[in-house]
Amino acid sequence: MQNNKLLFGSTIGIIGGGQLGRMMTTVAKHMGYRVMVLDPTPDCPTAQVADEQIVAAYDDLDAVRELAEKSDVVTYEFENVDLTAAQILEDAGILPQGANSLRVTQDRELEKKAMVDSNQPVADFAIVTSTEELQIAVEEIGYPSVAKTCRGGYDGKGQVKLTNKTDIESAVEMLQQADRLIIEKWVPFDKEISIVFTRSQSGEISYFPVAENIHRDHILHATIAPARVSEQIAEKARQAAKAIAETIGVVGTFAIEMFVCGEDILINELAPRPHNSGHFTIEACDVSQFEQHVRAICGLPLIPVHSHGGAVMVNLLGKDVEPFFSQLDDNPQAHIHMYGKAENKPLRKMGHVTFIGDNPLIIYNKLVEKKIIEN
Ligand code: AMP
Repeated sequence: MQNNKLLFGSTIGIIGGGQLGRMMTTVAKHMGYRVMVLDPTPDCPTAQVADEQIVAAYDDLDAVRELAEKSDVVTYEFENVDLTAAQILEDAGILPQGANSLRVTQDRELEKKAMVDSNQPVADFAIVTSTEELQIAVEEIGYPSVAKTCRGGYDGKGQVKLTNKTDIESAVEMLQQADRLIIEKWVPFDKEISIVFTRSQSGEISYFPVAENIHRDHILHATIAPARVSEQIAEKARQAAKAIAETIGVVGTFAIEMFVCGEDILINELAPRPHNSGHFTIEACDVSQFEQHVRAICGLPLIPVHSHGGAVMVNLLGKDVEPFFSQLDDNPQAHIHMYGKAENKPLRKMGHVTFIGDNPLIIYNKLVEKKIIEN
């Protein structure tokens, strides 16, 4: 793909119409682009702010071709894009992110290989395709460990923690539904962090501050930025990002989740798109993960990232919306982002709020006191 600049007036096609597409669209519209979204749900979160929607399944190849015809460049907001569709777009020269980032991140086996090929540390693991291999792997890796499906899992789905022999039953059941599992040693981490960065088409990388992530029920609950880690850990995270991005050939905004153990990191997961743990960049940095993404895919120079200080982002799941808004007057400094989802479900991400200040720890402690952050 040639690095021709796509300027205002050009059309960006987005596969997937959730909140990430919506936040990409918001900045793309500021910058003067037209946005066309492909999503099966009419009036999905992205369609509410985009110029046009193609209402069709993500893997409807006719719809993908229509999107390609109507767009100057195409991107996506989730990793499970149909690979045939991605290849069609790459061959047409309008998918600067390429199909490879998707191929790798759709499959935990390929993802781990990319981490290892990049000389990055990962927890002990084995790929298994039969009950026998599963038993041998668990014996070698030991308890506690975790079994994950190689494809299709997210937010803790397709995962089972193995604490003793009886848990192997559930892993065997999972294996019957999937062709491969990955067995990983359970990491007694001190904290979880992520690094969100953007790589341009010419290979220049800009990093956002390393973020610290707190999960509840496997779903991101809150992000503190910058993470409460040493400069040495932050530098290891940036080096890992660079190595992995170069191995895969990343273009656009990308996120890497890691475990921190003492002064070491272990790479956990890759996401080839803007990430929930990078939402704080909208208010906390002079360029957001979404704006930087749009710039990268359109061939514009990346903006050097400067942070205005600390931030704490809290996700609003369905169950959190009413309690949060009922105490809005006590939280005037909350920047509100609601995603326009039609149906509220208790564990569905309905929006998020971001708090900015010099010291994220003070903000964090206040939010714990007010029970906006569950401790
Ligand atoms: P994943 O889908 O791989 O990102 O896993 C979701 C969450 O499960 C992670 O953010 C961790 O909190 C936890 N987890 C996953 N794998 C491990 C592991 N090997 N050791 C400890 N915790 C893990």
